[in-house]
Amino acid sequence: MRLGIDLGGTKIEAAILNNNGDIIWKKRQKTSKSSYDDIIAGITELVTDARQDTGFAGPIGIGLPGSTRKSNGTTQGASLTHLNNRDLKSDLKQALNTDIRLENDANCFTLSEAIDGAGKGCGVVFGLILGTGCGGGIVINGKPVSGINGIAGEVGHNPLPWPITDEYLNHDCWCGNSGCIETFISGTAVSKDYYDRTGANIPVEDIAARINTDLVAQSVFQVLEDRLARTIAMIINMIDPEVIVLGGGLSNLDRLYQNVPPKLPRLVFSKEIETKLLKPQHGDSSGVRGAAWLWPDE
Ligand SMILES: [Zn+2]
Repeated sequence: MRLGIDLGGTKIEAAILNNNGDIIWKKRQKTSKSSYDDIIAGITELVTDARQDTGFAGPIGIGLPGSTRKSNGTTQGASLTHLNNRDLKSDLKQALNTDIRLENDANCFTLSEAIDGAGKGCGVVFGLILGTGCGGGIVINGKPVSGINGIAGEVGHNPLPWPITDEYLNHDCWCGNSGCIETFISGTAVSKDYYDRTGANIPVEDIAARINTDLVAQSVFQVLEDRLARTIAMIINMIDPEVIVLGGGLSNLDRLYQNVPPKLPRLVFSKEIETKLLKPQHGDSSGVRGAAWLWPDE
């Protein structure tokens, strides 16, 4: 058995996988938005329940919305800001009396898809998450690549490649830079694009639902696909993965898998492109599954 915990902005989810990768136990609770100690207490409660219900006694993998500094083990860049500059691994190790592995949540998503999901059997897998923001993770031979700065795969905060004139303006990113990919190919970006053209502020799922009857909705997605192709071409030119698995809300859109690959030969340096663009297999449970797979040998 393996125990994984997905520490997210709204919920903390814990799950136990058996050796086949099936979830055999699962529980969740709300994430405290204000208190670090409450997060430690919440995780402790979930682990105590898991141990009582299943007899689990092994180490624990945890996915979090941030990364860990190599130098001193503290968390950085977490959207749950009270995690930042805290030594989560040591604090949990003390609270739970077991070994802990921490990994960025995008890396956990990619790991789950690489081990027994859409990228199963592939040596180099890139996970590209298109949700509220745009995250990314790299898994090579079944191991997540964290990077010396803890940001490997964070393609969302690179500038959009091959920009056209009007893409230079009005794309300030929360990270402090301007023109970040996240401001073009996330769910938030699609909603903003639709709002800029129509004045209607509606969620991306509703825009997708009108695609056959609303020309602006159709255009917004055509532009998204062009920007996504440019981003994916840059990823292929950099690490040349066998598979790119999409995650997040936009990954449910079938048209992306049909419309984006034909745009790649114009952009990618090699003219024959073997890289597959695939839908995720594990959906919402990828975070917690990937956290559990941080202990592959248990
Ligand atoms: Zn940014």
